[in-house]
Parts: sequence; C-alpha cells; structure tokens
Amino acid sequence: MSALIQFAYFGVAVVFILGLKAMSSPVTARKGIVWAGYAMIAATLVTFYTPGMQNYGLMITAIVLGGGVAWWSGRVVKMTDMPQMVAIYNGMGGGAAAAIAALEFARGGAHGVTASTLAVLGALIGSVAFSGSCIAFAKLQGIMTKAWRLPQQNLVNVVLAGVAVVLGLAIIVTETPPSIIVIAFFVVALVLGAILTTPIGGADMPVVISLLNAFTGLAVGFEGYVLGNPALIVAGIVVGASGTLLTQLMAKAMNRPIRNVIFTPLSGAAAGGGEAIEGTMKELSALDAASVMRYASKVVIVPGYGMAVAGAQHKVWEMAQLLEEGGVEVLFAIHPVAGRMPGHMNVLLAEAGVPYDKIFDMEEINADFPQVDVALVIGANDVVNPVARTDKSSPIYGMPILNVDMAHNVIVVKRGQGAGYSGIENALFYKDNCRMLYGSAQQIIGEVITHVKALEV
Ligand code: NDP
Repeated sequence: MSALIQFAYFGVAVVFILGLKAMSSPVTARKGIVWAGYAMIAATLVTFYTPGMQNYGLMITAIVLGGGVAWWSGRVVKMTDMPQMVAIYNGMGGGAAAAIAALEFARGGAHGVTASTLAVLGALIGSVAFSGSCIAFAKLQGIMTKAWRLPQQNLVNVVLAGVAVVLGLAIIVTETPPSIIVIAFFVVALVLGAILTTPIGGADMPVVISLLNAFTGLAVGFEGYVLGNPALIVAGIVVGASGTLLTQLMAKAMNRPIRNVIFTPLSGAAAGGGEAIEGTMKELSALDAASVMRYASKVVIVPGYGMAVAGAQHKVWEMAQLLEEGGVEVLFAIHPVAGRMPGHMNVLLAEAGVPYDKIFDMEEINADFPQVDVALVIGANDVVNPVARTDKSSPIYGMPILNVDMAHNVIVVKRGQGAGYSGIENALFYKDNCRMLYGSAQQIIGEVITHVKALEV
C-alpha cells in the first residue's frame, strides 16, 4: 500500500510540473490549471490512505470549509481584485506551513537535527509569509493606505531576524522546547513579516507578493519533509522555485533589485517632487480619435489597469476589428507589470478573444514605436511614463516602460486627472504628440466605435 501511495504521489508531482509548464503559454495555460487542479484532488484523496491518518472527520470538515470558501471567492472575485486574493491565499499557505510546524513542536514530532531544523525554517518562513501577505492584502484592498516606516527600520529588521534565529536554534537543540520559547518564536516571526512589508508600497508591491509566494513554497516544502509527504515537498519546491524566478523577472522588468524592494522601499506617498513637467494637456474628441485611427496605417493599443477596471476589453477588441476591416494594422503591447498582477492584461485580452499573435511583450514591440502612427493608451499610466527614463528622483526611475511617447501620435484614454499606482504625474500627457480622450474606457471606446462605423459609410 505504501509503495502504491508513493507511486501516486510521484504521478501527482509529475502532473504538477507538466501543469506548470503548460501555464507558461497563454495557449495552454487553461489546460495547465485544470491538470494541476486534478493532481491536487488526487493528492488530497491519496492522503486519506496514508498510514497513520485517522482524523477523517476533521479532515473532511477542513476540506469542505476551505474548499467552499475558495470555490465561492473564486467565483465572486473581480478580475481587478485578483492580486488581493492571490496575496491572501498565499498567506494561508504560509500560515498552514507554520501551523504544521507548531503542531510538530507541540507533540515533539520533528525527530533529529535535520527534521527539526527544517521544521523551524518552515515555521519562520511560513510565519513571515503569512503576516507579510496579510499586510499586502490590506494594502491592495485599500484597508491600509499608509506605508509605515520605522526609524532605523533596517536595524529593527536585522534585530528581529536575529532574535527569531536564536529562538529557532533554541527549539532545535531542545528536544521538547518549552511553550514560551515556541510562542515567542512565532510572535517574533509574525512581527518580522509584518514589519518587513509595511514600508513597501507603490510600484514595488507586485514583486513583494511574488517573493512572499516563493517563501510560502519553501515553507511548505520544508514541512513536507518533516511530515514525510513527498507531494508536499514537490509542490512546495515547485512553488518556491517558480516564485523565485517570477520575482526575479518582475524585479528585472521594474529595474528594482530585490534587496532594494525590501530594504529601501519606495512608497506612493514618497512620490512627487522630481523634474518639473513642461507643456499642457490637450484634449481630443471621440470623433477625432476615430478619424486619426481609421486613417492610420498602424495602431498599437496599450492596455493598463483602467481597462481592467472599466471591463473594456471586449469593446477594445471590437474597435480593433473594425479598424482592421478598414485596412489598419492593429497590435497590442503589454508591459509586464501593467494592471495589478502578472499577466493581467493577457488574461483580459484572451477573454475578449484577441488572437495571441496580435499581442506583443514590451521587449518585442518597443523598438517599433517610432514607426507607429497611433499609440492608443487605454487606462495605463505608470507603464508609459517617460519620467522613468529621465527623472532620477522619481519612484519609478529605471523601470523599463513602453516607449509610446516615440509614436507619431499618442491618444490616452482615462477619466480625468487621476494618477497611476505610483501616485506620480505622467510627463507623457503633456507631450506635443499626445492627446487626452477623457471618459471611462468602456463608454468612450463605445463612442469611438460608433464614429469609426460612421466613417465607413
Ligand atoms: P496605473 O495604475 O499606473 O494607472 C491606471 C490609470 O487608469 C489611472 O491613471 C486612471 O486614471 C485610469 N483609469 C482608472 N479607471 C479607469 C476607467 N474606468 N477608464 C479609463 N481609465 C481609467 O496602471 P498601469 O497598468 O499603467 O500600471 C500598473 C501599476 O500597478 C504599476 O505601477 C505597477 O507596478 C503596479 N502594480 C502592478 C502589479 C502587477 O503585477 N501587474 C501588481 C500591483 C501593482 P483616471 O483615474 O484619471 O481615470
């Protein structure tokens, strides 16, 4: 039986990895999610047959409760609220890993130096991921609007980490650690996670969520070793490794070394100042926007968070198709951190039915902008802000941006004077080649569609 269970776990691990591989392309991503979901169901079922399992009532209750909440929240969550959901689910994973360790400490289940060291590491990393993710959730949900930074913040971080390590060592060397040490260890680890995350805000938040996700994976992997559960080890390591890679990719995309994100965070509140922006904002009408695009040869659409909020992706694709029928080449350009989660724009455009061969990543399309007749920016702001190239005092300085300002004409769709996520003014809007098309994206693109249709006649 035991060999059969190990074999089943091995099969599950293989499917997890294949599922993850499939998720790397938008064409196969859906399939990958479904495979990984089936593998997770299989792993859960197999666990019921693992020798030593007896609390079936508790296990089923936990699965029904957890599964019910996840099913409900997965159905009702809005696409724009997805990052908060990822943050809180990620926190739950870290919390679960820490809870497993707490239980093992309580019943003296982690035998030997290796097992107890991994239990302590899992508990530390899991607790940091749990409290850090809760803070990230509160920030993204708008419950916590300020980015607090303590005086001597980095020193406090180092001291707290040092205390956590000392307490962890005490747990490792003591066969049955006194509860006061275990409680103090968890309290310090939880405070450390919260304090590391509170100063971080603005444009750095996506990197932090991804980093906490990698932490959770590691913690789960370590606790899998303690429990002797191979599926948990593989799942944890896969999450840890992919989370680490994603964190590195995002940090690179935003040109923010990971150590800077954690130790010298920039917050939206810190934004402002910087270079004076010259020029004025110039408005254009939906009719003018329709004419400029209808008689252009090449239009590149740059979607951002505002398109997601407005749910305008279907209208945008309808407009793009109309323009294409009129002989205009229409492409989409996606910045890696546009919206509020990695791949946010790809998901929305795929949902609207935009073919993948029309969607280009920043590196693929950036060099083309000088040959583009119209760059249509829909609800994007930070990811097209040229101050990222020029203003060293700007919180987004160094972040690679989509070079829409180099297009012959730029049209920006937004509702008013609202700033982007980082809270700073956008120099693009004041450029001579830029015109503002004010309105909520869905409604205003609807008007543009009406005018494009009228121009056909
Ligand atoms: P921004 O958040 O910079 O800007 C969004 C713009 O959309 C605003 O200027 C707003 O202006 C406009 N807008 C809002 N609602 C509407 C609407 N209904 N119709 C039309 N426009 C609207 O978005 P970007 O996508 O450019 O940048 C993403 C930012 O989010 C980056 O700073 C990134 O670092 C950060 N981030 C990214 C994450 C990720 O993983 N992708 C996760 C978390 C943060 P107005 O109010 O005037 O309409």
